[in-house]
Amino acid sequence: MCGVIGIIGPYHEEKVPFWAAYEAYRGLLTLQHRGQDAAGILSFDKDRRKFFGKKNLGLVSQALDQTDLETCTGNMAIAHTRYATMGSDEVSDLQPMVTGFPFGVGMVHNGNILNYHSLAKRLGEQYDFQLLTNNDLELMLHLWCQKILEERESKNTPLEFKHVKKAAKAIFDEANGAYALVGLMGNVGMFALRDPNGIRPLVLGKRAGKKGAEYCVASESLALNFLGFEFERDILPGEVILITTKGEVFSEVVGAAPRKAHCMFEWIYFAGAESSIEERSVYSTRLNLGKVLAKKVQKAWDNKEISPDFVCPVPDTSRTASISLAENLKLPYREGLIKNRYIQRSFILNTQDKREKAVALKLSPVRSEIEGKNILLVDDSVVRGTTSKKIIELLKRNGAKEITLAITCPPLRYGCFYGIDFPEESDLIANGKDLDSIAKWVGANKVIYLDEPDLVEAIGTESLCMACVNNSYPTDISEGKVFASKRRNH
Ligand code: SF4
Repeated sequence: MCGVIGIIGPYHEEKVPFWAAYEAYRGLLTLQHRGQDAAGILSFDKDRRKFFGKKNLGLVSQALDQTDLETCTGNMAIAHTRYATMGSDEVSDLQPMVTGFPFGVGMVHNGNILNYHSLAKRLGEQYDFQLLTNNDLELMLHLWCQKILEERESKNTPLEFKHVKKAAKAIFDEANGAYALVGLMGNVGMFALRDPNGIRPLVLGKRAGKKGAEYCVASESLALNFLGFEFERDILPGEVILITTKGEVFSEVVGAAPRKAHCMFEWIYFAGAESSIEERSVYSTRLNLGKVLAKKVQKAWDNKEISPDFVCPVPDTSRTASISLAENLKLPYREGLIKNRYIQRSFILNTQDKREKAVALKLSPVRSEIEGKNILLVDDSVVRGTTSKKIIELLKRNGAKEITLAITCPPLRYGCFYGIDFPEESDLIANGKDLDSIAKWVGANKVIYLDEPDLVEAIGTESLCMACVNNSYPTDISEGKVFASKRRNH
């Protein structure tokens, strides 16, 4: 999972020459929760006929500084915050990626290409190119340029939307997986596209500028709000958009798949609570998740299987659902765990060792609330179970009597190949285990999960990917599975 953003608009005297990069940077800060491994920015300056960029490891504020931004002049810019599922930590594998030949193109994307290896092999043989990185974005960059080259009558033919559509169609036809992509074509404008199933989110915003409209494309609507752009709409599955340097906007759906499959995990865990995805507020959805979970908990309570004294969220994501759960159960809501805000999320870190250290470091128990109490502990999901186990140990060490773990998601039993880093089923705590075994493993008295229909009810749409819950993948995952097993045996 990553965060992407792109900005384009006309320049006027009150703006600094690097205004687009500055706005992209500010927007990227609001998408920091989508990836914390690295960040990068790229601008195009029409007057100087040049791309300017910087990328580096670390959080946005560590990877990019004021001097980097001041260098990135021009009226369009893209930026990226990285959550690594592919490639290495080398700077060459970071985004944005850019090429100057056969014309200038820069790209960022959020997602994962499942058929990366076979596609790399086939395209490499067909076009005789050599990949310079391990990042799947490089493939899309090559494919984009190659198709435009083929479609363009001569190098003097201006690049138009008809060329862009062909290039987008080639990506939709060839790249199997999830991708929300934003790019710049020097002298032409900014483009964006979203995979045929619409697995990863991408939104379009617009605001009035002194010399004409300015546009923003971003992973989440919270970036639009923050920068003062009006939410225009979600970019559709299989749609490509081109916004030219003259302010013209072209768009067309050229590659939609029959099934829309928006990742349910965006609402449950990944997206910022202030965002709307597919015009469904993430915050309201999380309240709904608490409400439907309350029915399940009430049942266990009525059956005298549990007797909770209060509801306690695992900070931060599950806080919203916990408030609603407590309201619906008429139970007190207490913060029994305080999060150290300076430590990154544990699940997003890419090694088990890093994750365990992060869990141990980031939560402090509030003993006065915990001691001698039966706690209804709420988490948004349980992936590997590491975090839950550590937290329950911590609560028990601080005097908790009984702990019921209530989860605003069904059990995750299958791998994700679409950009969230759990492709290996065997890593998942719920894989091959029943609820009692899961409870025993994490040290809880009982675990209560949502079911699939609860999720559909809470989110309010059936156009979801829930493959990690029900094994119904929106695309062919055979190559993704082979890759995951190679990675496991490595
Ligand atoms: S498999 Fe799960 S995490 Fe991956 S895209 Fe689908 S719903 Fe999201």
